[in-house]
Amino acid sequence: MSATVQTAKPAPVRRPLVPGAGPLAYLAVVGLAMLAAVFVPFDDYILHILVESTTYAIAVFGLTVVLGLCGQINLAQAAFFGLGAYAVGLGTADLHWSFWLALALGAGVALLMGAFLGMSTLRLGGHYLAMVTISFQQILTLVMINWIPVTHGPDGIGNIARPALFTSGHGYLGLCVVALALVGYLVWRLPETKLGRSMRAVRDNELAASVSGIDVYRIKVAAFALCALLGGIGGGLFAGGFAYVSPDQFSFAESIVFLTMALLGGVASPIGALIGTALLIVLPETLRFLKSVPGLYLAIYGLAVILIIRFMPDGIWGFLQAYLRRYLMPPGFTQDAPELVLAPAKLEAPSALEAKGLSKHFGGLKAVDGVSFAVRRGSVHALIGPNGSGKTTTLNVLSGLYTPTTGKIALDGHDITALPPHARAAAGLGRTFQNIRLFRSMSALDNVVIGAERQRNDFLAHHLGDGHAALIGQARAALDFVGLEARARDPITSFSYGHQRLIEIARALAGNPTLLLLDEPAAGLNSTEKLELRGLLKRIAAKGLTILIIDHDMALVSDVAEHITVLNFGRRIADGMAAEVLRNPDVIAAYLGAEPDVDHRP
Ligand code: ADP
Ligand code: MG
Repeated sequence: MSATVQTAKPAPVRRPLVPGAGPLAYLAVVGLAMLAAVFVPFDDYILHILVESTTYAIAVFGLTVVLGLCGQINLAQAAFFGLGAYAVGLGTADLHWSFWLALALGAGVALLMGAFLGMSTLRLGGHYLAMVTISFQQILTLVMINWIPVTHGPDGIGNIARPALFTSGHGYLGLCVVALALVGYLVWRLPETKLGRSMRAVRDNELAASVSGIDVYRIKVAAFALCALLGGIGGGLFAGGFAYVSPDQFSFAESIVFLTMALLGGVASPIGALIGTALLIVLPETLRFLKSVPGLYLAIYGLAVILIIRFMPDGIWGFLQAYLRRYLMPPGFTQDAPELVLAPAKLEAPSALEAKGLSKHFGGLKAVDGVSFAVRRGSVHALIGPNGSGKTTTLNVLSGLYTPTTGKIALDGHDITALPPHARAAAGLGRTFQNIRLFRSMSALDNVVIGAERQRNDFLAHHLGDGHAALIGQARAALDFVGLEARARDPITSFSYGHQRLIEIARALAGNPTLLLLDEPAAGLNSTEKLELRGLLKRIAAKGLTILIIDHDMALVSDVAEHITVLNFGRRIADGMAAEVLRNPDVIAAYLGAEPDVDHRP
């Protein structure tokens, strides 16, 4: 155990809300709900509301995934719902297919359309996605209304069939409850899977996600397609429930209703989706008695929604969760963290990193201009220079966030110049940011687990064993290495600035990098924290890891770095052994604030 920070307080032992609650307890609840659906003598009106609520909720789960987990907007969920509904409607009523075939086809088409829309817009960013989904929604509505020979136009489709075993209202409700429970369970567990964690990382911080090895675009497309799929499944079940569907049920207004359900209940969890859906289906029904005054119930409904969203920004479930959190936390660890494993890199090239003639120009500004240097394997190499000299830009080019204007980059002797950031992370590049970039909605542990998930090779399986436990083990080991393992489960926001820097380093370390890029790790630290950082850097170096560090703290740099490259106005002005470089008159002039040579500025 090598804790540098003694101030960390041990995590309190927390107990789950229901002892032993897990899949079994969930199954019991679902079983009870199913028995109720089948045997409680609801009248048709209640059955109607329950089938509507369960099928809508499945579609709202889709928004939990895309918006809640991944932070992407989808203003066309009613269109995907409609695709599923029309597939079941047309399939069973006109083509006499089996219900299941029609449902599967509808869900498949929704999935494909979602993936296609996602792929065509998710590279472009938020506004485009909103616009494209609205357009898609409008086009689909127009098709439903106007392609009369196929869709029956505004008249809609009647005589929609149900599957053989579920023809009664109660039987069908039972089916919807099972579907809801199944989908709900998967969505509930999703955040703890690699895919779900990646989605959360993308929502929290795209840049940090990409340098931690996550293919941001692919994850967004996956989230979007999953959302569309759940829309399609919900819609297909909805059509079977009501035997009749028409275009107005799948309009843009309905997409807004889906979105409101998600936001109202709480977009971060399927429980929120359930609450929001139930409320927005039941509330308008109960307010119908106000119908004597036209429009009054709509006004009250709208006001209620505004008030709830105004005073509970995280939705109703988010609000309740703040009180339940301590019971919902997993219990603390009972065993010590394992030793941090850093597998030795393949010793092919003498340099861990080689940059040749790197330039990055922003219009006329030559932020980096023809810089070359090599980082010897196993060394600590510093990149220094005055503010604005191009140090961070160099790091951004090295880690793939910027495409270089000219130049080549080799990691371990392999050319990585054309690789995207996540592929460079997988190739062994780990980094931290000058302005800390952590996944702020997560615990320290989850942040570091994301780092651990991107392994350079199968070294985890090789050194620690397979699976989730090994992942958690490596993440805890990395946190332990920076001295913060005792607070692993604490939310990021509860850590001091200095500790957040350490967690960012732990996240990079957990990925077993060949080369660690650190951008001003000492910035903003107090003198005690700086001392701790110095110790940490030395312990990392002692593990044989190669480090390229940017910092202004010359005491730190001269203490840890054996080699220094100096930039000024984007150009390399010195490069060599630390002691020599620090004596170099050009370097001293650049650093001691000799008047900047304005001719260098474009
Ligand atoms: P350093 O990290 O050495 O302080 P930077 O690499 O951040 O310097 O910046 C170098 C120069 O490049 C600065 O003049 C900065 O304004 C400019 N620069 C950095 N990033 C961008 C960008 N994305 N667009 C335009 N100019 C940039
Ligand atoms: Mg900088």
